[in-house]
Amino acid sequence: MQELMQRRQEIVDAAHHLAQRGLVEGSAGNISCRFGEHYLVTATGARFTTITTDQVPLVDRDGNVIDGDVKPTSEMQMHISVYDETSAKAVVHTHSPYATALSLVLDEVPLIHYTQLTLGGSIKMVPYATFGTKKLADLVKKKILGQKGVILRGHGTICSGKDVAAAAENAELLEWVCKVYHIASQHGTPREMKPGEVVGVAAAATLKSYGTVQKSK
Ligand SMILES: [Zn+2]
Repeated sequence: MQELMQRRQEIVDAAHHLAQRGLVEGSAGNISCRFGEHYLVTATGARFTTITTDQVPLVDRDGNVIDGDVKPTSEMQMHISVYDETSAKAVVHTHSPYATALSLVLDEVPLIHYTQLTLGGSIKMVPYATFGTKKLADLVKKKILGQKGVILRGHGTICSGKDVAAAAENAELLEWVCKVYHIASQHGTPREMKPGEVVGVAAAATLKSYGTVQKSK
């Protein structure tokens, strides 16, 4: 029971953080994580600024509540698609503004910055379908393989990670990349990374354990 509470608290902390960073407005976003064979997920209508642990029900893959007394998000099926197709342990969905704006004018966000490689390279676009539908969940399934973040056209983003904090970090990174692309495109055509540059990044990242805090001695 203590672990269940701890996981719920992680989701609440991530929700508060994402709201503070401007990635989620009002109740337009949701977070989930695996918990054994079930899932913890934010409740439908929950607002990220004020969400509490009692608004994070434990549900089965069909959305039936196992523990808690509030209904899960209507976008649950989309989260299940990510769990079915990848090894993700947590999923974050936002309507973050830069990513959503680019989805209206681009077919993908090209690889413009090396940190994007942690998301899977260029950012794929999932075709538009109504929120909460099986159709949208199926479309996500087709694009998510090999990606830690994709954009839903005219809707928002869906990102995954090895835990809730990692999924939230990927959602922030995706939004940052879209913001950089937007700023650059005001001044010309953003320059894509060349294949040779990508190879160099992979080698450097392996050598330097990029992204991890390391002891100096
Ligand atoms: Zn949504």
